[in-house]
Formats: sequence, C-alpha cells, structure tokens
Amino acid sequence: MSETASMEKHSFQTEVKQLLHLMVHSLYSNKEIFLRELISNAADAVDKLRFKSLDNANLIADDPEFRIRITTDEKAGTLTISDNGIGMSKDDLMSNLGTIARSGTAEFISQLSGDQKKDANLIGQFGVGFYSGFIVADKMTVISKAAGSDEAWQWQSEGEGEFELAEAERSTRGTDVILHLKEAEKDFLNDWRLRSIISKYSDHISVPVEMLKPAEPAEEGEEAKPSTEFELVNKATALWTRSKSDISDEEYKEFYKHISHDFAEPVTWAHNKVEGKQEYTSLLYIPKNAPYDMWNRERSRGVKLYVQRVFIMDDAEQFLPVYLRFVRGVLDSNDLPLNVSREILQDSSVTQSLKNACVKRVLGMLEKLAKSNAEEYQHFWGQFGNVIKEGLGEDFSNREKIAGLLRFASTHNDTETQDVSLDAYIERMGEAQDKIYYITAESFETAKNSPHLEVFRKKGIEVLLLSDRIDEWAISQLTDYKDKKLVSVTQGDLDLGDLEDEAEKEEREKVEKESQPLVERFKEELGERVKEVKVTHRLTDSPACVVSPEGDMSAQMARLMAAAGQDMPEIKPVFEINPEHPLVKLAAEKDGDEFKDWALFLFDQAMLSESGSLKDPGTFTRRLNKLLMK
Ligand code: ADP
Ligand code: MG
Repeated sequence: MSETASMEKHSFQTEVKQLLHLMVHSLYSNKEIFLRELISNAADAVDKLRFKSLDNANLIADDPEFRIRITTDEKAGTLTISDNGIGMSKDDLMSNLGTIARSGTAEFISQLSGDQKKDANLIGQFGVGFYSGFIVADKMTVISKAAGSDEAWQWQSEGEGEFELAEAERSTRGTDVILHLKEAEKDFLNDWRLRSIISKYSDHISVPVEMLKPAEPAEEGEEAKPSTEFELVNKATALWTRSKSDISDEEYKEFYKHISHDFAEPVTWAHNKVEGKQEYTSLLYIPKNAPYDMWNRERSRGVKLYVQRVFIMDDAEQFLPVYLRFVRGVLDSNDLPLNVSREILQDSSVTQSLKNACVKRVLGMLEKLAKSNAEEYQHFWGQFGNVIKEGLGEDFSNREKIAGLLRFASTHNDTETQDVSLDAYIERMGEAQDKIYYITAESFETAKNSPHLEVFRKKGIEVLLLSDRIDEWAISQLTDYKDKKLVSVTQGDLDLGDLEDEAEKEEREKVEKESQPLVERFKEELGERVKEVKVTHRLTDSPACVVSPEGDMSAQMARLMAAAGQDMPEIKPVFEINPEHPLVKLAAEKDGDEFKDWALFLFDQAMLSESGSLKDPGTFTRRLNKLLMK
C-alpha cells in the first residue's frame, strides 16, 4: 500500500488492533508503566548489541558507551526515549511493531470475557510492551537505525488501525521512541515525575538511564538556561550482581516484571551467588498465575542467560526441566564461554550441573513457601499443580521431593480442594496402617462416592481422591513415599493387613465360605463378562462393585488410553459381591431367569458407579424397571 515513493501505509495485524484497544481501556489506572516497558525495550536492545559486538567490535566502535536517554520537549508536548542499542531495520520495524509474534494471542484475546477485558492483570500477563505507549500518547514516532546499517527508518502511528513507514535521518545507530502525549497526560513532561518513575521501575536495569541536569537557577533579569549535560538517573547495575541485603523487595519485584513481561507480582524468589569450583549467580522467580499458554509445549520457557554479566540469550530452556517451565529468572555463569550457543549448551557438563542446581533451588523455594505460607502455596498449587505432577515421571532423582510438594483432595475433609500433602496423610495414619491409599476416577464426585471407599470410611482410614486427567499416570510413577507404599483401593485384592482384627478376619472367612455357592451362581450367569467373582470385604453399604485385577492396567488408565485413540484389549473386571446386603440376599432367593436379571442388574450397576457410563444403558433400564415392577 505505497502512497509515495518514500512513505508507506500498513495495517496492523488484527491481534494488534484488539490488543491496543484492550490496553488503552484496561490499563488507564496504571498509566506510568508505559515508561517501564519502553525503557525495558531499550535495555534489551542494548543487551542484544553488546552480545553481537563480542563477535564484531566494529559495530560499536564509533559509540562504545551504551546508554538510554529520556528527554522532553515542552512546546511540542513530546517525551522521547532514546537508546544506542541494536536498532531496527525497515523490516524489523514492520514485523516488531506491526505484529505480535507470540502464538496463541488471537485465541487468548477472543476467549476473554467482558470482565476479563477490564482486568489489568490478565492483559498485562501477556506482555503489554511497546504498544503501552498509546495509553498516554495519541501518536508515536519511532526513528531507528540498525547497528551496522546506514539507512534510518521512521515508523509512525496513531495507535488505531494503521502505521506508516518512511525513510528518515538519524546520525548514529539506535532508536528514538517519541511519544506525542495526549492533552490530559502532559504531566509526564514533568522532570521530577519522570525521575521518580524511572527509579521506581528501572533502577535494576544495568544500562545507564540518563536525563538532562536541571536548569541552572536564573540570574536577575535573565531567563533560566536549560542544561545540556546529562546525568545518571537509575542505579545502572544489574540487580543480581548486587548483594542481597542491598536489594529491596520492591526492586526484586520490578526486576521480575522486566524479565517476565508479567504484570502481577511474583509469589517468591531465590537469589543465590555461588563461588568456588563453579561460579554463578541465579535469581529465580515463581510467578503468581499460570500464563495463558502454559499447556502449549512449544511456548518459550527457561531463564535469561548471562555469561560474566553479558546477556547471551532469552529463554535458555536447558537449565530447567519441562515440569518447571513456569519458572522465570536469570542465570549468570562465569564458567561458560561468551560465545556459547544453544548447541554447545546442550552437551555441556556445566549446563548439567547448573540445571541440577536450579532445580534444587526451585524445589527448595516451593518447600519453603508451602511451610511458611499455606494460603499462597494453595494458590500456587491451583495454578501449577498439574505441571508439577509431570515431574514424577520426568525427574527420578528428585521424585521424593516432588512428591512432598503434591496436594490432594481426600476423604479427610471430602472437599474438592486439593490441600492434603502426603506428609499430612502419614501424620494422621493410625499405628496399624502402613500404606497410603488412593482412588483415581473420572471426576471428583465419582471418586468421592465410590463404593470402594465404604470399608475405609467405616474404619476411618483416609483415602486420597484423585480426579485430574494426569493423576492416573502421575501416581503410577510414585510407588512409595517415605517407605510407605501407595496403593489404589480399586485395584487387586484389598489387603488391609493389620487394619483388620482377628475377629473381623474370622467373620470374613466364615462369610466367604458360606457364600461360595452364591458366588458360583453369579459366575455362571455373568460368564465372559467377568474375570472372577469374589466375596467383597471393601463394601458395607453397596451390594456389589467391580475391581481391576491385580497387575492389570487399572480401569481408569484403560479408559484414558482408549480416549487417546489407543487400541485397548478389553480388561475384564473382578466382580465383588456383598452377601450381607439386602439386595444380594434378595437375589440369592431367586432362580432361573429372575436370578439372571438380578445378576446382570447388579453387575451393570457396579460398572456404572465405576465408570460413570454403560455400554447398553437401555437394557439396563428395562431390566431395572422389570425388577421394580415385581
Ligand atoms: P517484547 O519486548 O516483549 O518483545 P515489545 O512489544 O515490548 O515486546 O517489543 C516488540 C519488539 O520490538 C521487541 O521484541 C524488539 O524486537 C522491538 N523493539 C522494541 N523497542 C525496541 C528498541 N528500542 N530497539 C530495538 N528494538 C526494539
Ligand atoms: Mg518489551
């Protein structure tokens, strides 16, 4: 869409238009963050060039001192953020300031409800970035010259549908972002206001941020002469290199926002300097909320990597396992070479030991959070619990630690909230109990109301109620915790061990013997449908239930695999009957077709409460009606 030879008009990508609209309408109560975002971009641009100049010192030979400058023009009503970083070519301007690269953006925006659209945290979570300038400006002009190039380009937009590109003049490399402030936002020209925003948000940035010195006070009869000398406004040392005791919580939080593009504050962080055989500094954060694209396994993840304080790369995923993909932070190593690449990182032993160290820090940080602030931890678990569970299969060496972080719903309080730890469970165990019991089911309600729990409820034995999709797989990775076996209550023979006393055992054996003929009759009627029929000792209130045979895949697992499109051989259940139950007693009195109806009805009923559905519900209902009518 060329207008003249040197000026082109372009439309923003649809997502950008939507985001611009949302931002201006949701972030007005926190306008000043635009400055943080633009300074953050300028600092990133400097980091990128510093890295590039390691290979090509010529790029910065003419202007080797990196800096960011903030200037104002009262008359024009403009505020300018200038940097001498990497700059942008015409193509860069077009793609960086005309589209949003992150995948999933469109879906994310379209899924927001009306209320969510006004929620600054949600919008911010996703990185407001450059476009936040339009919260305070009705026009933005960007003039940029890429390092090593001799062309400068101008990008300009009023933040609605379009932007313009044109050739421009700029003597040296770098970028000016010029905000034409809205009439009501002229406050941002105020020197003092700008200084206080910069030190609030940008102290931790390692690049110097400079402003003009205040004007000299005027002599009698003369006008005050504006200063032409710049001075430093921020601290300009990389935050993680400073000593812990000098850094305030506020500074840690601002730094987090800078590196994570998250709007919300982090839940907790760990800052460690390690010296000796290995030298590195790590600063790792736990975000408050899960990002909208956490389940996208391709999303970028990992820490920002520095080597000897030089920025090397974003999203260095080699230092954190997939199940800790939500962690954000910085790693600054003295042992890696400055020219390190992703390929080198992959096979380096330094990487491996840094990764181990990072994992330890993160798990330690979570343990500490769980101990010191149960409420915060609960929120964390709600956001990231299902990701942590992946660690049971992914990270064997830390399995016990990961298991300690798990939280479950349980029969202890019978609520859906997952707030019971394995340690709390063990603490409540009676002396006779030596196993940790759990049940997995399709939903919390199915788990909670499962007939398998009857004997446990009667004896007051706690059972963990698992119903997240990942649970069946995750829990199968965890055979024991602190020397206690984890046992599914729906699988295999229920061995209550010492939980049963002698009298109970004798009684059970007696009932088993007496019911043998009845068991045989059920077997005959059910035939191929079942693997076996047994007298139950897990039921007290229900007539019958089905159990997965010991050693076979559990029924829940088989369902999950079938749902995932796997060809599953049919697993025949063990059918357990409760001979004390009035319905079973009633059935035992019948014979012929009538007994057959009873047997099939009891079996279908047990299948129904196990899986929540039946292959042939019509026949089941007809049979039930027939029995009711008699
Ligand atoms: P983010 O910083 O999260 O990538 P932004 O919206 O803040 O997103 O910026 C978009 C992109 O524009 C940046 O990734 C960068 O490539 C480019 N950019 C923005 N400001 C500058 C700058 N001052 N110098 C060079 N590139 C910049
Ligand atoms: Mg940015």
